[in-house]
Amino acid sequence: MSREKGKGLPVKRAVLSFLNFLFPSFCRICGKGLKGSEYIVCQECRQEALPFAFRHPVLPLEKGRLLSFYRFQGKVKDMIYLFKYQGCMPLGPLLFDQVIDRFEEKPIPYDLLQPVPLTRRKRRRRGYNQSRLLAAYLSGRWKIPTGDLVAKKRETLPQALLGKRERSRNLSGSFALKKGVDSTAWKGKSLLVVDDVFTTGATFEELYKTLEPLGLSRIDILTLAVADAPPATSVINPEEPAFNAENG
Ligand SMILES: [Zn+2]
Repeated sequence: MSREKGKGLPVKRAVLSFLNFLFPSFCRICGKGLKGSEYIVCQECRQEALPFAFRHPVLPLEKGRLLSFYRFQGKVKDMIYLFKYQGCMPLGPLLFDQVIDRFEEKPIPYDLLQPVPLTRRKRRRRGYNQSRLLAAYLSGRWKIPTGDLVAKKRETLPQALLGKRERSRNLSGSFALKKGVDSTAWKGKSLLVVDDVFTTGATFEELYKTLEPLGLSRIDILTLAVADAPPATSVINPEEPAFNAENG
């Protein structure tokens, strides 16, 4: 588990840049040779991963709010794919790292960061849970503990393959509160769910249902990217502080 800790990132960077020096390697996206401190993905490709809606990344959801930093397209999609499926573990935190400073000074009032869990089987096969890596990184930056209130009980089909109705059926009952979670200890607390990509929200609907008995005061969502970004008209007041739960 220690390799999932976000604080190991600078060390990992140094090691990777040293390895790149010894064994020049190539950008996993465009194939150009990597130079200097570059690792996995070259600087040009990284710069094409443009964040969107810096000023108004908070979108209204029925039961909580979503903050997302990128559109799930182009180089961002490539980088998230490498991060999630190709074992390129530093890339997810790196995508946060490129934008997170904009939010550093904002009050972050959450009591707990909850990564979206994987089944034990999938976690073992992949070797890591990408959401947990993201949460671990944020936990290091924001000094908010990472929690483990929820477990994924059974394997589900990839949401991307399914229509909207099938998606919620696919996930129905797939999460459960972890054994040993004190159902009275979380009343009135606030939670931030962390994941890589927001698609239809079906996963979060399921998580909300699972977490409901705990009586949390609010559950918001933070993802690296959003797949189907809503039109600008559905965005909350752009002048509103980007990530301040006290504002509603
Ligand atoms: Zn490149």
